Amino acid sequence: LSGQWEVDPAELTLGEEVGSGQFGLVLQGRWRERRVAVKMVRKGAMSEEDFKEEARVMTMLSHCKLVQLYGVCTQHSPMCLVFELMEQGCLSDYLRARRGRMSQDSLLGMCLDVSEGMAYLESNNFIHRDLAARNCLVSCNNVVKVSDFGMTRFVLDDQYTSSQGSKFPIKWSSPEVIKYCKFSSKSDVWSFGVFMWEVYTEGRLPYDNRSNLEVVEALNAGLRLLKPRQAPEAVHLLMEWCWKEKPDDRPSFALLLHELASLSDL
Ligand code: ADP
Repeated sequence: LSGQWEVDPAELTLGEEVGSGQFGLVLQGRWRERRVAVKMVRKGAMSEEDFKEEARVMTMLSHCKLVQLYGVCTQHSPMCLVFELMEQGCLSDYLRARRGRMSQDSLLGMCLDVSEGMAYLESNNFIHRDLAARNCLVSCNNVVKVSDFGMTRFVLDDQYTSSQGSKFPIKWSSPEVIKYCKFSSKSDVWSFGVFMWEVYTEGRLPYDNRSNLEVVEALNAGLRLLKPRQAPEAVHLLMEWCWKEKPDDRPSFALLLHELASLSDL
């Protein structure tokens, strides 16, 4: 009945709270000699049966630039999800806390880390659906990893899942996602462009003084986020490439990874 992704609660020790999100509290803990982060799913927050089906696939996705899902504890109700612990928390907070103190190398390095994780997801035909700096986490040795991939599919709050909803991440979404909910690796690429903008503005909110409706209208009129002062011209060109109207005109993550790597060699 239980697969390899089933975590035995007897092997899990829970510690202090490290955050909270859409699904509920996140605690740090220990599991088989490893430091882990445990998402304690709130009652009614997640479509648990659907998630259990997918958990097997997600535990098999394994890459040094992805936050690893070790397993799921379904014997508790509601269940809890056991992830690799990322000691330095989410990237958006990390960027804001270090404003003015990060080198060009480290900003580019963050983009490179996330492009590697995303190229791996792309090569496995796995769509993230909610890539943003808030969904990337930082390890104890400053490596940035992609988290929460595919998880929006299991959120039960329709304010979050409907593109009309108040919590839907419009400012990270491509035009075809906003209009037809057409998700693809190329819609992830659009979000990656916004992610690079967040990195180079050191954690500013995109289109900060505009409503979702104003953003949609601006995008339709062909407007895009402006070049962050800190971004080199070559990085800004990559952002603009990610924000091409037609998905086919955007680069793949494999190509973005290649381009970013060549910039970091200069
Ligand atoms: P949800 O998926 O429920 O929306 P998040 O993934 O946004 O939750 O997590 C909420 C917060 O918990 C994050 O901002 C971060 O501070 C913390 N957190 C989540 N996952 C981890 C992890 N693997 N390691 C360390 N902290 C984490």
